[in-house]
Amino acid sequence: MKGIFQPQQVFIQQDALNYPLGRELARRFHELEPVIYQKRIPAIRGLEPREKFQLSKKTLVVSLWQGREFQSCRPSAHWQLPLVSGCPGHCHYCYLHTNLGTRPFINVRVNIEEILKKASSLCKEMPKATVFEGAATSDPVAVEHLTGALAKTIEFFAQQPHGRFRFVTKFPYVESFLELEHRQKTEIRFSINCQEAIAAFEKGVPSLKRRIKAAGKAAEANYPTGFLIGPLFVFPQWKEAYERMLKELSVGLPEGKYTFELISHRFTLRARQWINTLYPENKVPMDEEKRQFKFGQFGYGKYLYPKAQRKELEDFFREKIRAYFPQSDVLYFV
Ligand code: SF4
Repeated sequence: MKGIFQPQQVFIQQDALNYPLGRELARRFHELEPVIYQKRIPAIRGLEPREKFQLSKKTLVVSLWQGREFQSCRPSAHWQLPLVSGCPGHCHYCYLHTNLGTRPFINVRVNIEEILKKASSLCKEMPKATVFEGAATSDPVAVEHLTGALAKTIEFFAQQPHGRFRFVTKFPYVESFLELEHRQKTEIRFSINCQEAIAAFEKGVPSLKRRIKAAGKAAEANYPTGFLIGPLFVFPQWKEAYERMLKELSVGLPEGKYTFELISHRFTLRARQWINTLYPENKVPMDEEKRQFKFGQFGYGKYLYPKAQRKELEDFFREKIRAYFPQSDVLYFV
């Protein structure tokens, strides 16, 4: 598969070797001489922050999920499903820069059954459908060829009367999902943006065309299919650019019902500092003078587009989505 992730170095937690997937990954990458560690992921020393970041993005960590509780995941789901964290892509605006800093390892958890068992118990606690998000801190499709974790999870949720699973991706590797029994309990969403934003900010991820093609295959395999459009940027001719994208999408997809999630661009001062350190050449618009400050959920503030611009974005997308995808729903705009 074109551009698929292959690590340059591998760290394996000793206890992960007690699981078949841990042993399989150790065998698969034995030529890279994996470092076996006990509790703490080894530090990468002697490199500048940027070099450390680059190498970490090529480092596969094979570990165990050892948390006791899942993190909550509003607005897209009830809970995060901690199968993977990290992503090999290099989108300049990526929300993971602040979460993972200079150690954005691609960390795959091998105790998938334990994670799913916990999910199952949470489903039983709630009277209505409980929704789990598989991509809260990762793009899990980027490493599915190594773990098969999503395929297992899709089949698991097919058997859960009250559980739903969803994940979002920019990677088009959906072939291994197409034949699975999913009973429409899993929603596959594709993260897309206009060509202008992709060319400017999204490095190391597949083209819009490939994402649309993959979405078409998911829809044809009867998966509930959706699109996360974002981050939405305001720039000269943004309306034309986003309309071209929606048109390309409508032409590339079978007729049907899709969901849309719309996220306008925002940044924190901490994120800006990281982005400028990690990608000094980046052109992400982060001028706080042109934004509206809003206190965030965790005590730090973020800079959104001013209210009038957000309204213009929202109105534009709701209207165009209605026109191009009359059967579809906009789940939220933020
Ligand atoms: S694909 Fe998603 S998770 Fe990966 S770098 Fe881009 S924005 Fe971040």
